Amino acid sequence: MDPLNNKPDINQVQRLEEIARYSMAALELCAAMGDYQTSLTKFKNRKDIFERAVQGLRQMIPISLYAFYSVDAHDFDIELEHCEPPQKQVYIKGVVDFLIDKNIVARAFREKRTLTARTPDHKYHLLIHALTTTARSYGVFFCFLEKIPLEMSIVDKITTIVMKSTCYALENFDLYRLVDQKNAELTEKNTRLSESEIIYRNTFENTGNPTVVVNSEGMITYTNSQFLAFSGWDRSHLINKKRLTDFIVQSGKFDFALLLLASEKEITDNPITYIFENGATGKKNVFLKISSLGIDSQYIVAIMDVTRIKEAEKELLHHALHDHLTSLPNRMLLQDRLSQAVRKKKRNEQNDYAVFFIDLDRFKSINDTLGHAVGDLLLIQTAKRIQSSLRDVDTVARFGGDEFVILLEGVRDKKACEVLSQRIFKKFSTPINIADQELFISMSIGILLSSMHNVEEVDVIRLADMSMYEAKKLGRNKVVYSHEIEEKKIEKKLYLENHLLKGIQADEFFIQYQPMIRLTTNKIFGVEALARWRHPEVGIIPPNTFIPIAEESGLIIPLGRKIIELAFTDYACWMDRFPELTDFQLCINLSIKQMLHDDIVDDIQSSAGLLKIPLQNVCLEITESLFIDDTKQVADTIHKLKKIGVSIAIDDFGTGYSSLKYLNQFSIDMVKIDRLLIHDITKNTTNFNIVTSMLLLCEAMGLNVMAEGIEDIKQLEKLIQMKCQLGQGYHFAPPQDKTAIEQLIAKENTLPLP
Ligand code: C2E
Ligand code: MG
Ligand code: MG
Repeated sequence: MDPLNNKPDINQVQRLEEIARYSMAALELCAAMGDYQTSLTKFKNRKDIFERAVQGLRQMIPISLYAFYSVDAHDFDIELEHCEPPQKQVYIKGVVDFLIDKNIVARAFREKRTLTARTPDHKYHLLIHALTTTARSYGVFFCFLEKIPLEMSIVDKITTIVMKSTCYALENFDLYRLVDQKNAELTEKNTRLSESEIIYRNTFENTGNPTVVVNSEGMITYTNSQFLAFSGWDRSHLINKKRLTDFIVQSGKFDFALLLLASEKEITDNPITYIFENGATGKKNVFLKISSLGIDSQYIVAIMDVTRIKEAEKELLHHALHDHLTSLPNRMLLQDRLSQAVRKKKRNEQNDYAVFFIDLDRFKSINDTLGHAVGDLLLIQTAKRIQSSLRDVDTVARFGGDEFVILLEGVRDKKACEVLSQRIFKKFSTPINIADQELFISMSIGILLSSMHNVEEVDVIRLADMSMYEAKKLGRNKVVYSHEIEEKKIEKKLYLENHLLKGIQADEFFIQYQPMIRLTTNKIFGVEALARWRHPEVGIIPPNTFIPIAEESGLIIPLGRKIIELAFTDYACWMDRFPELTDFQLCINLSIKQMLHDDIVDDIQSSAGLLKIPLQNVCLEITESLFIDDTKQVADTIHKLKKIGVSIAIDDFGTGYSSLKYLNQFSIDMVKIDRLLIHDITKNTTNFNIVTSMLLLCEAMGLNVMAEGIEDIKQLEKLIQMKCQLGQGYHFAPPQDKTAIEQLIAKENTLPLP
């Protein structure tokens, strides 16, 4: 104010106006800063932050050029991040380098206020402000002005406020970016989690078995719909309300804790069968497969309905022990009862028994002239008449075609046997009426009395059989006692036994091979080696005669070794001639004594090694009866044999204790169904059903199945229809010599013969 003329000084007015303008602008900027603060979250990148800051400053300061330099947290180097206009970047960089040299940048960091300077070319004034908070340094802001603003202290304050906000914006931006990143990771994780949940839920739903999740008390915590259908319960009444044990009938036997323990050890195949009581379909036989889920003591229990398998097993067992035509005990059951009788006698001399070996006279001619159907009916009637002559405690078994064996316990003298044989003859004194025909039946009986012999179990039947043959020689309805013929016959047995060793040494044994056929292609895929004895005086002796004698005398070990050597030698020749037959199979029969002999694995390995026989092409056939004797040792041997590469087949399956348990337990590769079962497959529905069950079960267990003794096209067609893959029998080829086999292979491979 000019005090003289009371007029305001013009300069002062201008200055005050400028200050007022600055103040207004500062106030506006402060208001704008409020918006700016609240809009911090909206920035998508750092460049937007810088531009927003400059936009604020420009309301007060005429900024020509500007630049943001970021700072490296490690070595504190600063680097251009953004500048305007971009085409001035080189110029700006030159200026900043100059400022660094002059230590002005370092000072800006130190003093944390707006510093001023001039560009080296004096073209611009510079405002330099470090972007720092207490937590971190973000960089430096360089502002180029053509004219220095009037009120520098206000500019400094405004710049400081804007730069502080910019720092917060940068800080928030980093934070939001981190949060966004975490959110993205979380979303990704959630997506993956829900995907895998869908996979697991679908897998659980579609295991193919009723399946539940239980806790350590057996309480059901989760179930698939198959379990609902299987149990007949709905989900709301099951989950956390029922224990799995509530469905198990023999809960006493069912030690859940123990099972869970087993599952910890990853023994998930629990071989015990339980009875599962379900509302919908009654009782079921089940296997439980338990495995730990690995979380919170939760276990997954898959339930396998093995009712059908169990029934088939029972059927098989019954079939295994009974003759299907007459329903009498068969050879196997008889052998079992006989063993008991022999053991009882060994324990106490007084426990005597008698064995009748009965063979019908002229049965073959009846069969041939009147046909098999009449023959079968006759056998059924005969069985009934014999049975009706006996006490309940006695056993009568059908031993083979028209042979029956009676075991009488507690019988010690000839007199009692005579009474019984006469009673039997009397029963047959009246004719049997079949198809309007009256058939008179007579028979020959050989009797062994344990009181008259010191006889071993293996000889009992043989001696009774020999006696029957002697009786046959005497005419019809005759009886011969074994103690009356024993000496002569023992001599014969001894004769063969004595010659067996010589026979082995003199190379009297040879092998015939029976082709094995893949039924779907009708091609040979291998052969079974069958031993023969060419005795110089007796002629060709079949294995069923000499193998038992060899087993009894212990000579089966050197004989078995010889057979393996012979078969391997022939096989090696075939490999030479037909190198393209890389997977031609060779089956060799092993007897129980061989299996139980310590050297068997080494023997096979060393013979194969010498001749370079690929052991994966060798299959050893063993009979079911093996498993009854010494399960542990047999299991060990099978394990060792499998380890060296050979496969294992069960021979004559269906005639012994056809337990599926063995198939599972011993890791068998192939099952050969006995030819007795195959023989009547087209006529006898029981046989048909049994073979069907076997095929189904073996398929379920992943085993190969071969039908033995296919003799005609009808049997073959039936088997193909039943989906049996492999076969063997006279219909294709009988056992034959090595050279004949070579010709067969050559024919199939259309190779020229030598
Ligand atoms: P296997 O192992 O069941 O052999 C099959 C038997 O059935 C052979 O009798 C064979 O000739 C006969 N066969 C094959 N196809 C048919 C057919 O269509 N119809 C009929 N009725 N029979 C057929 P083989 O050669 O007399 O052998 C009898 C048994 O002697 C063999 O039964 C086997 O258990 C045993 N065996 C043979 N060679 C050896 C051997 O080297 N070692 C041992 N331990 N046992 C042997
Ligand atoms: Mg065999
Ligand atoms: Mg067989």
